[in-house]
Amino acid sequence: MPQIKLSFEKQILKTKMPFGISYGTKSDAKNILVKLTYENMTGYGEAAPAPYHGETIDTVMALLQAWSESDILGDDPFAISEINQKLDKFISENYAAKCAIDVALHDLSGKLANLSISKMLGLSGLQTQMPQTDFTIGLDTIEIIKQKTSDAIKEGFQILKVKQGTANGIEYDKQIIRSIREVAPNTTLRVDANGGWTPKQAVLMSHFLAEQKVQYIEQPIHKHSSAQDFKYVKDHSPIAIFADESVMRAKDIIRLADCVDGVVMKLTKTGGIQEGLKFIQMARACDLEVMIGCMLESSCGITAAAHLAPLADYLDLDGALLLANDPFNGATCKSGLLELKDAPGLGISPTSLSGLESKL
Ligand SMILES: [Mg+2]
Repeated sequence: MPQIKLSFEKQILKTKMPFGISYGTKSDAKNILVKLTYENMTGYGEAAPAPYHGETIDTVMALLQAWSESDILGDDPFAISEINQKLDKFISENYAAKCAIDVALHDLSGKLANLSISKMLGLSGLQTQMPQTDFTIGLDTIEIIKQKTSDAIKEGFQILKVKQGTANGIEYDKQIIRSIREVAPNTTLRVDANGGWTPKQAVLMSHFLAEQKVQYIEQPIHKHSSAQDFKYVKDHSPIAIFADESVMRAKDIIRLADCVDGVVMKLTKTGGIQEGLKFIQMARACDLEVMIGCMLESSCGITAAAHLAPLADYLDLDGALLLANDPFNGATCKSGLLELKDAPGLGISPTSLSGLESKL
């Protein structure tokens, strides 16, 4: 039997504009593209490591190197659960690296079966239920934030996600929201503080944000905050509270199930599509709302998440839209509405920017 062959390469994804969140500002994302080859078919996956999730480009490359030199992937591209179990036994956490393998296996097995991932997962027919994605407004000067807001509205986005939790304090955060409201008085807004507030600041902000008709707050307090701190914020906030960085995999939801209103699923946090589905099922079992989010990722990672999008209440899948050099064509986005191609696997193809064509 032929073996599944793993290869990988670094990808520098440039953003159209610098992108700021409470952890810092970046103008590129260093991701890793994974290729799994079997019987002349190639499946793609992407790792988008984040230091605040405990991974760097070096940790991902080291793991991929080790896996490529071992027989861990075996000879059956449909043995995704078994391979994921082996990766979890090999090393704990490191979910971005595991995500790249899981997604590439889904792409590969879908191509071999001539079915899209949505069809393989039994999600056909749900696409009309897919929520609109928001567009993220990163931290910046007030002037640039206003410009980005106005550009996003011109492009037809009806929902904006605003980054908060600045080092300048909550008065500056309030100023950001007021400025956005000048340009976008009726647009649906949601806020992501990326853990930048104390519980008391979060409660103060929640009242201000409720007045500003903000829909909900994502990760108001630090990722390692206690369940009691989350419960304190939730009980005193007039708007919904979501946990993102605090919940990586399905098992993490249990600790906060009574302390938040919703959770954010990202394939980079769960380690791929299989665990992503489990995460969503666990959230539903705990009566929580679900947002599907992303990192700065190309259309490879975004399209993978889009296959699960009909299962979410809210979407933040704009990662590829922020890029100047997306190496793939995949799910398209028009005025916030994502559309998947009914093609085998992920339904992505390399663009001329990928540098892949010569190697295929
Ligand atoms: Mg977030």
